[in-house]
Amino acid sequence: MSRPPSVDRLARSLSDSGLPHPLLVEVARDAIATDRVDEAPALARRRARRLLAPVINATGVLLHTNLGRAQLAHEQAASATNLELDLETGTRGSRQRAVGELLATACDAEAAMIVNNCAAAVLLTLAALAPGRGVAVSRGELVEIGGGFRIPDVMEQSGARLVEVGTTNRTRLADFQRAIDQGNDGGDPLALAMHIHRSNYEIVGFTESVSIKALATLPVPIVADIGSGLLDAACPWIDGPPPAWLEGEPAARQSLTDGAALVIFSGDKLFGGPQAGIIAGDRDLVERCSRHPLARALRPGGLTLSALQHITLRYLERDGMAIPFWRAATTSIDELQARGERIIDGLPNEVTATVIESDAVPGGGTLPTVSIPSRAIAVAGNHVNTLRAFDRPIIARQLDAVTVLDLRSISADDDDAIIDALSRLATASSTE
Ligand SMILES: *Cc1c(COP(=O)(O)O)cnc(C)c1O
Repeated sequence: MSRPPSVDRLARSLSDSGLPHPLLVEVARDAIATDRVDEAPALARRRARRLLAPVINATGVLLHTNLGRAQLAHEQAASATNLELDLETGTRGSRQRAVGELLATACDAEAAMIVNNCAAAVLLTLAALAPGRGVAVSRGELVEIGGGFRIPDVMEQSGARLVEVGTTNRTRLADFQRAIDQGNDGGDPLALAMHIHRSNYEIVGFTESVSIKALATLPVPIVADIGSGLLDAACPWIDGPPPAWLEGEPAARQSLTDGAALVIFSGDKLFGGPQAGIIAGDRDLVERCSRHPLARALRPGGLTLSALQHITLRYLERDGMAIPFWRAATTSIDELQARGERIIDGLPNEVTATVIESDAVPGGGTLPTVSIPSRAIAVAGNHVNTLRAFDRPIIARQLDAVTVLDLRSISADDDDAIIDALSRLATASSTE
């Protein structure tokens, strides 16, 4: 039996993988300890594949949480910025100001601020506006968003007291009114009522719920967690009327017009921006949130803020086609069909593929029951794992005996990469 190679020598022999030496040392140690020296190059490659890298989203789920939700291009020079400097006075300014003002204009709100995500926005809003006090929420809206994020748990962490109102399927304004009349356990007045959008589920059948407009008649401020981040139900940033699949989706502007004191939403769902949470509405309430100590812990970085600024400016210019999510969501069927046919034309004869009708979905825990008509490339055989293993991984779906690549979630810029990848299937084995 030959002695195992030294860790250092084995690590050096793996340098083609492009990984820095300390990572290759870990791979080499593992390979030697588990008696897999021969497989060390494959282990190094597997390690490299754990790094964050671009992939092609061919799933048809436009906002795929596993694939980073909204697709977004953002470049920034390695330069200092005026993140917290007021250029007019030369004194310290607020990092919230520049983008907060833009978002306030976009939402038609008095003020707005930004935190790391919508969960953080819920936490901060409750901690700042309802510490130790009651917050009324319908039992039909005590949601779990995903990844174990449950509204009642966040509420508990914030120090606010959850006052459940109504039943799972039916909640009326009178239920809220009664809760407000009774107050908290000790009889303290409630601080807020919350309206939480049922982003990822629907309650159907014998149901009743209270609109923001009705809630706004109550003598407490209404905080509306709309989650999905649709800015304006009229979608003035796209040509033509709002798409049918948006029907019933709450929007920031309209929620405020209907009387919500604050609206909170994600930056990387229908807003199409970077991961962020936006709090917009009444100036006094936004200021109370921004003065709370948690605001410092939950504040976004400069990169996030400039990406958010970029997207918000596109909304204000009504240039939805410059926002990748809206470009993808509104691409016409004719265009998708033409892209599909061009891809098929570019494939060698050995690859059996056709353009088929498909249903894309917004995703990201939004609009659970709607789909957006789409077109897809269907390739005979199961190639999901092969496509995912390419240097530029393609994430596709398996549907019976075919592999489906939905064109709506694929940027047109990647069509040639798709032709390339599918052409390689002719030489790779067709079944796995
Ligand atoms: C998605 C969602 C959240 C959580 O948003 P993140 O930005 O992922 O933290 C909170 N509330 C609602 C209603 C949502 O849809």
